[in-house]
Amino acid sequence: MSLPSHVKYVVIGAGIHGLSTAYHLAAGLKATGRGSGEDILIIDKSAIASGASGIACGVVRNNYFQPAMRELMAHSVAVWESDPEAYSYHSVGYMQISPESMRADVTEIYEQQQAIGYESEFIEGAADCKTYMKGLFDDWQAEGITSVLHEKRGGYANNTAAMYGLAGKAEAEGVRIVTGLEVKGFVYGSNSGAVTGVETDRGVIGTDYVIVGVGPWVKQIWDFLDLPNEISIKGSDGRMHDGVPMWTYWSLQEGTLGVDPNMHRTNDGRMPPVIHVDSDAPLYSDIDGSLITDRMWGIYYKPDFNFGGIQGGAMPFKIETDAADVAVDPYGPESPDFIVDDSFIHMWCSALAHCQKRFEGKIGDYKNEPSGGIGAFTPDSFPVFDVFRENVYVIADSNHGFKMIGVGKLVAEDILGQSSVMLDPFRFSRYAEGRLHPVSNSPFPWS
Ligand SMILES: Cc1cc2nc3c(=O)[nH]c(=O)nc-3n(C[C@H](O)[C@H](O)[C@H](O)COP(=O)(O)OP(=O)(O)OC[C@H]3O[C@@H](n4cnc5c(N)ncnc54)[C@H](O)[C@@H]3O)c2cc1C
Repeated sequence: MSLPSHVKYVVIGAGIHGLSTAYHLAAGLKATGRGSGEDILIIDKSAIASGASGIACGVVRNNYFQPAMRELMAHSVAVWESDPEAYSYHSVGYMQISPESMRADVTEIYEQQQAIGYESEFIEGAADCKTYMKGLFDDWQAEGITSVLHEKRGGYANNTAAMYGLAGKAEAEGVRIVTGLEVKGFVYGSNSGAVTGVETDRGVIGTDYVIVGVGPWVKQIWDFLDLPNEISIKGSDGRMHDGVPMWTYWSLQEGTLGVDPNMHRTNDGRMPPVIHVDSDAPLYSDIDGSLITDRMWGIYYKPDFNFGGIQGGAMPFKIETDAADVAVDPYGPESPDFIVDDSFIHMWCSALAHCQKRFEGKIGDYKNEPSGGIGAFTPDSFPVFDVFRENVYVIADSNHGFKMIGVGKLVAEDILGQSSVMLDPFRFSRYAEGRLHPVSNSPFPWS
């Protein structure tokens, strides 16, 4: 496809946010008589779903300690439910299974889910939790669990299929998608700081508005926009904390047990909810009984025909290298640095066996193929959705974002002039103003 010399809207990135925003913006332009999908060009340096959206586990849940995140997730779950076929979405539900140290946090989540009408069930106390879990899986054996939050909505979607579903919807609205085209910088107007063109490896495309949805590559685009790599944050103590790094990378640990996904069904033969277990019970090796950890640990898993087994993950780890020196490319399983190692396999498979007897002795079935990937996190590990340089909308989801299919809809409305209360808690100004999100006791940076 020859490149246009000018297009009204350039979207950088054909992952969940770029595709979803383009699709909803196209529909919004048409509905308001202000244009159509033909005004939108998505460009991606590689291919549709070649970033984090194409390797994500695909879990969709509401379980967040932060009220603003829960509202956003409830909105996104409704978008997933609006077309499960196109989005390859499996509404099997989601369970947060926790130890005593998290009970108060999860109680609050449950109460607020009731307040916003998000269907869930909450079980408390060790004995009742065991009975509930055994009612679902008769081989349940995790110890030290004192609360179970069972979200009846949510579940997971097949990562790449969902992206192609979204891309198809955008193209049906007239949006053009050009792959193999890399953004190398921006052209600015002489009288203002606004962007007037996007520099690519095949020339400049003039534009009125840019939308950035580049997932783990956000720091590179941030640098092209000349935005600060260190910021000041007003803490809960009311004091300013200067010099806080804007971007930090975390390495996500995920993999697949190569068994028949059908081996993990509920007692009544149904596909189970996505299971997430956090625990402070000592975790012992399923190989030799040695202690793996006596500190807080967490895992999640689901049967997944797309991945070909039981797919899931464990807590990510922070990459201590300065963000400027982290090699994002080659990305995901192709990375020489950020794929899972034997310690993840040992821990995750042992934790599966800790939870359910059916997984005992299965570590030999682990699919020994590269997996995992990195994500770019903001200073508080929550998203930034905001406009920079007057006309550049940055969607930086802080690696929360496969489930956030609805953010593109809100961003599109925002661009068309309908400011969203749901996006307000995620503006960049929250750091300087000290409007930070509450922090939970979960071992994951995204709960
Ligand atoms: C292993 C793993 C598992 C995850 N599991 C889940 C999960 O279960 N649930 C969940 O909600 N979230 C999950 N996440 C997080 C989620 O995948 C991401 O937050 C989300 O997919 C980011 O979407 P995006 O559209 O911003 O970016 P991406 O999907 O990464 O897409 C960005 C695109 O931008 C393109 N690009 C980058 N730079 C340029 C450039 N200069 N020029 C042109 N194109 C460019 C890339 O090629 C890429 O295709 C997971 C992440 C990882 C790494």
